[in-house]
Amino acid sequence: MQQGVGREREIASGKLKESKLTKKVALVTGGSRGIGAAIAKRLAADGANVAITYSKGADAAQSVVKAIEGAGGKALAIQADAADTDAVKSAVEKTVAAFGGLDVLVNNAGIAIAKTFEETTLEEMDRLIDINVRGVFVATQAALKHMKDGGRIINIGSCVGERLMTPGLVPYSATKGAVKMFTQGLSREVGSRGITVNNIQPGPIDTDLNPAAGDWAEPQVANTALKRYGNVDEVAALVAFVAGPEAAYITGSNLTVDGGTNA
Ligand code: NDP
Repeated sequence: MQQGVGREREIASGKLKESKLTKKVALVTGGSRGIGAAIAKRLAADGANVAITYSKGADAAQSVVKAIEGAGGKALAIQADAADTDAVKSAVEKTVAAFGGLDVLVNNAGIAIAKTFEETTLEEMDRLIDINVRGVFVATQAALKHMKDGGRIINIGSCVGERLMTPGLVPYSATKGAVKMFTQGLSREVGSRGITVNNIQPGPIDTDLNPAAGDWAEPQVANTALKRYGNVDEVAALVAFVAGPEAAYITGSNLTVDGGTNA
């Protein structure tokens, strides 16, 4: 009873939320814009020190760092193209050197190329695979060298990794299907170390990649049960939960945050 009241007071005062990831170190790939930026800010708000990677947008990355620092957190931006093996490995090492370890890896960096399958070039397919699949493999392998009991690998897949209703995303959805099976398989290899591996599968989320006002928006909204796009914070909230101590028994899961798209 006493404990319950204390806990309620802490939640009411905001203390419990802030302490969930205290002393934890997170690396969010593709954390300069969109979903990744929201995840980085949310993990920092929950107490983690956060490193982000980006490929081209140094200014956007710096503005995420400033926002986190302005709110009293610690952050670091690292230029690392997800398709560049050495850069990705180096980003992991730089994170560990700056913050003294690595507890949470969020594999968020990803691209989509919307075209029919027959129009998609092999070069475009290679780029999709290099960033959305190979980049995840490389970052995860590098991160696991440093991760200890309680570690979290959180992949950002997609609801289209399970079910595709929108035309023009065949190779993209295949990369996200690969992320799904990677998640399930890896969870069994690292579970005995107390490390969880989960796949967050967003539906249509309003970002530069998939603007709610874009040509592609209408059929995506129609496919949702809630008849709207989601926002980046709705994805970040789920990532923060999976990163936190209350999610210790969730692993190998594909957690969909898609407004009912795949219902
Ligand atoms: P955005 O295009 O809005 O943002 C992408 C972020 O990733 C930016 O920070 C970008 O940085 C970075 N990035 C892109 N390419 C690379 C690369 N080669 N190496 C490193 N960083 C890179 O995308 P979203 O936020 O919408 O998407 C984030 C993730 O969520 C992706 O994996 C996507 O597939 C997934 N997703 C998105 C959905 C949506 O509706 N938005 C739905 C389902 C899944 P920079 O500007 O420097 O390139």
